[in-house]
Amino acid sequence: MSTSSDSSNPDRTIFEKIIAREIPAEILHEDDDCIAFKDVSPQAPTHFLVVPKRVIVSVKESCDDDAAVMGHLLCVARRVAEQEGLKDGFRVVANSGPDGGQSVDHLHLHVLGGRKLTWPPG
Ligand code: 5GP
Repeated sequence: MSTSSDSSNPDRTIFEKIIAREIPAEILHEDDDCIAFKDVSPQAPTHFLVVPKRVIVSVKESCDDDAAVMGHLLCVARRVAEQEGLKDGFRVVANSGPDGGQSVDHLHLHVLGGRKLTWPPG
């Protein structure tokens, strides 16, 4: 399910407030459809988030009409990872729903790199 951002809506996500510049963040990329910024609690030497401006709650709640923007998020993840010097690789994660460990209900890709990451996750 997708919703549109409305600054009068008190239930806006923290990421909508970052997009509106109401909350500061270290922004690495912005275009008409998405924004990328450093995670406030990095889990690797490089950890940034790629977030669509139009709210999609999660991968689980997305629909086929969201395919173009979801593909765009991956392209931006690759471009910003390159910009950040992650030449030896990186991990892209999209936590979805309670079992997936999602804490912010606004779809986002985590991009982690700068060290050898282990598998499987916890
Ligand atoms: P999730 O748990 O939903 O997959 O990921 C949410 C991520 O958002 C977490 O890694 C968390 O550190 C990050 N985060 C939460 N609040 C803020 C914030 O105000 N600023 C930034 N830059 N990141 C945030």
